[in-house]
Amino acid sequence: MPATRKSLNDLARRVSRQLKRDTADIVSFASELIAIPSENPPGKTYDRCATYIARRLRELDLRVRTVNPSGDGPSVIGTFGEGGRALYFSGHYDVVPAQSESQFEPVVRKGSLHGRGAADMKGGIAAMAFAIRALATAGFEPAGRLVSVSVPDEETSGPRGTVALATAGIIERDAIGMLTMEPTGGEVWNANRGVISMRVTVHGRPAHVGLHFRGRNAFRGMLDVANALVMLDTEISARRTGFHIRPEAARRSVLLLGGELSGGHNFNVVPDRASFTIDRRTNPEEDFDRERDRLLAAIDLATQPGVGVDVEILQQGRSAATTARGALGRALGASLRNVTGRAPRFGLCPGVLETRHYAALGIPAMACGPGLLSVSHGPHEFVSVPRLVECARVYALTAIRLLS
Ligand SMILES: [Zn+2]
Repeated sequence: MPATRKSLNDLARRVSRQLKRDTADIVSFASELIAIPSENPPGKTYDRCATYIARRLRELDLRVRTVNPSGDGPSVIGTFGEGGRALYFSGHYDVVPAQSESQFEPVVRKGSLHGRGAADMKGGIAAMAFAIRALATAGFEPAGRLVSVSVPDEETSGPRGTVALATAGIIERDAIGMLTMEPTGGEVWNANRGVISMRVTVHGRPAHVGLHFRGRNAFRGMLDVANALVMLDTEISARRTGFHIRPEAARRSVLLLGGELSGGHNFNVVPDRASFTIDRRTNPEEDFDRERDRLLAAIDLATQPGVGVDVEILQQGRSAATTARGALGRALGASLRNVTGRAPRFGLCPGVLETRHYAALGIPAMACGPGLLSVSHGPHEFVSVPRLVECARVYALTAIRLLS
């Protein structure tokens, strides 16, 4: 029998009440997780985190399994419901390195939970788990399954988390969608940029300045390459994404040159080595492969005959976009409107997102979380507890809309 609007409203109210009652437990789940220093790099204490999350999810009556397709990065999968298609709530339990040890001693001050990972995104892992638990307690019988996935290795776009799950075929391709509580400040990121970062090293031959003619200047070789890339950047930075992102200047496609520079030995020695980094961030409208090939071709073309150049790829990841007008976007948007009373805002994530691994499998995927990006990797990371609970309500209402 299809659920009536009234029964759905009753359900939503019961879920909200349950989450209010569970607030202290959400905070304690998140706090204990924050106290486990899962810094990445290098990727510490993954086993402890996974063991802890699995135990807490079992206590919340989810069916739990731990998978470890990479061999050294366990992911915890908790399921509520039987059969049908999956709706994923995904969170990463690794955090960027702390700026002080006190970041692993979580505290609640003035309504906010402070500590490394509070916003990005151990708070989110706890909130998502309790969103599922509130649905179960409220008597929701999903037409399908709600699946909570807790992964490592997100902060370095490493191979042990979502990538390993996707490669091992553990992510179900026919899933309804994926939501992740990245620190979006209550907005929805339905798209992310692609990234390719590399280090270019030009090799020369050293010689004392008095015998400069015996050397080959690596710095000059580097300038040839760098100048070609500056020309390319004139064209790249003129491109604007149509996705929402502020301020206007942030719409540009990005080619950052020289974030890291090194080379040479002394002012009176012909440098035998000069290197610089390139960080290319493509807009979702750009063809990632084409842009990567153009970059490599520009380096190749600018290299003078006989000059040795190495290109080391530091990271790469494709852009992704999920339409805001599909079932997931409509359900999430309506739930945000219900809970916050404001019109939802969809936009482009300024960095890369795990959603891309789901989008690559054809699964609609979006990020929406209560934390602030501005504090997320900083020394004073926190998340507002009321916003955290609000976000859990949004997730639960979205699940009701998609699984009723
Ligand atoms: Zn994150």
